[in-house]
Amino acid sequence: MIQKGLLVVLSGPSGAGKGTVCKALLPTMSSLGYSVSCTTRQPREGEQEGVNYFFKSREQFEEMIQQDELLEWAEVYGNYYGTPLRYVEEQLAAGYNVLLEIDIQGALQVKKKYPNGVFIFLIPPSLQELKQRILGRGTETEESFKVRFGSAADEMKHINDYDYVVVNDQVDDAVDRVRSIVIAELCSVKRN
Ligand code: 5GP
Repeated sequence: MIQKGLLVVLSGPSGAGKGTVCKALLPTMSSLGYSVSCTTRQPREGEQEGVNYFFKSREQFEEMIQQDELLEWAEVYGNYYGTPLRYVEEQLAAGYNVLLEIDIQGALQVKKKYPNGVFIFLIPPSLQELKQRILGRGTETEESFKVRFGSAADEMKHINDYDYVVVNDQVDDAVDRVRSIVIAELCSVKRN
């Protein structure tokens, strides 16, 4: 795999605020391209095809798995999520930096293929805060809340698989820290 650009993986438990941090970070970092994932979950209000996700049927997604079109994929809360391989490979080979916003299972798969990537673990300030954030979204049923909260608490164990940890206490501060990490990595002598 030719890799000239930097691969940045922002991951962490559901409700840590990965989506919010990415949304705030991207307009401030023109050097970072966002990899739009595929998913089989239904679009939420306001989500757009090709912007937030590429929305697929289960059959289409399974076909992508068969055809090796995904860099990684995972089943998260009953839906498939995956990163299109071609976009990432092409961007990195052309020297562009790529940001993935993915769950922990996916990040562990990417780490095996791109050990040079920068793996950032975003966590909420506390489990109490995490609970409020997941509930505050207003999109979860009681059952899906239990699943999301239970596995998020369990996922915190993976912190040691990452290069950096960022506590998302205030979004602006978390964005500043992620941006600083990316800038430092781009300046790193060891990497270049
Ligand atoms: P949501 O349904 O809230 O958009 O996302 C649910 C979870 O799936 C989040 O933790 C999100 O980071 C993760 N996710 C989004 N895209 C991908 C992907 O391409 N691969 C993996 N493994 N997880 C993803």
